[in-house]
Amino acid sequence: MPVHLTINDKPVQAHEGQTVLEAACAHGIVIPTLCYHKDLSPVGSCRLCIVEVDKLRGQVAACNLPVAEGLVVHTETPALVQSRRTVLSLLLQNYTDAGYTSHDGHTTEFEHWVRYYEARLPDGTSPAPRYPLDGDPNPFIWVDLNKCILCTRCVRACEEVQGRFVWGVGERGSYTRIIAGADTAMLEARCESCGACAAYCPTGALDHKLSIRQGEADRKVTTTCTYCGVGCQFDLNVKNGKVIRVTSNPNAPVNGMHLCVKGRYGYDFIHHPDRLTGPRVRRYLLEEGEKVLHGPAWDWVETDWNTALDITARKLAATRDHYGGSSIGVLTSAKCLNEENYLMNKLARQVLGTHNIDHCARL
Ligand code: SF4
Ligand code: SF4
Repeated sequence: MPVHLTINDKPVQAHEGQTVLEAACAHGIVIPTLCYHKDLSPVGSCRLCIVEVDKLRGQVAACNLPVAEGLVVHTETPALVQSRRTVLSLLLQNYTDAGYTSHDGHTTEFEHWVRYYEARLPDGTSPAPRYPLDGDPNPFIWVDLNKCILCTRCVRACEEVQGRFVWGVGERGSYTRIIAGADTAMLEARCESCGACAAYCPTGALDHKLSIRQGEADRKVTTTCTYCGVGCQFDLNVKNGKVIRVTSNPNAPVNGMHLCVKGRYGYDFIHHPDRLTGPRVRRYLLEEGEKVLHGPAWDWVETDWNTALDITARKLAATRDHYGGSSIGVLTSAKCLNEENYLMNKLARQVLGTHNIDHCARL
């Protein structure tokens, strides 16, 4: 059912069940948010998305306000600006930045809104850091609770995106902080190091440890993960020709912001000196000599694809002709496309004459 409302004097058509924030976003009207993320359930705790509604008393959180027929909403009045500035100033009183390169080198969401609303600490105050930098031994997640504004996006991301329930909120009052499990290290609380909590954190309190101090990428390349057949997409952040970070691409059709530990953090192979970048064959095959299992003829030699494929085809044909097709087994890979695996099945059964074909997922 369509619902008609007015936001900032602009007629807006929404649908039943939407919130005012969702309706505004859908029409390109920006309402500031911190604890809200479209992938996560709304909690309405940061009070940045407050709006004024005609005939409704006070300022209400747009992320929790359902649209209703005839609603007249204002998102940027002087009173709202003042309230947001106050909210951000209060958050700044428990926020310290040690100055290392934050997040993906860009301004974080929190820094953006602090600047936008010109929020400042009260004169003469300067909060001291309360927690250690890199406060958790997790090899991939950087924890700096001095930047935490307790928005609980990490708690909800771990619950709702990854289903691991690692993060929670502990202590009370000014001692409140996020804790892993029963206040243990993240890995002890069954963290899978997927990095979702860091990807959703709006301040850089949780960040990608491998990328801290790596600076800003000069370009981003959207690509498909090489690790399995799901086909997740993400952005490779490249600086001077080197991948320095993987960031979620919210438009990825299969996975959205979600990635596993391999896709998000397993990129060191790209520039590893041991990485094979071309085919290799045993020297005796290249020289068409007798098979040996040691000595210089057993060494690997780099060659071109045509040579390597010719040798492979020749050896397979000779084996099939001499011992029969069932002497050959074919193992395919989850890293191949469905179509490639299908073709391998055809090659095995119709060309090599074997039903011995299997897939690495069952090894
Ligand atoms: S890295 Fe993943 S599993 Fe670990 S706490 Fe963060 S969201 Fe949860
Ligand atoms: S660590 Fe980040 S996401 Fe989690 S509560 Fe703090 S600011 Fe929010």
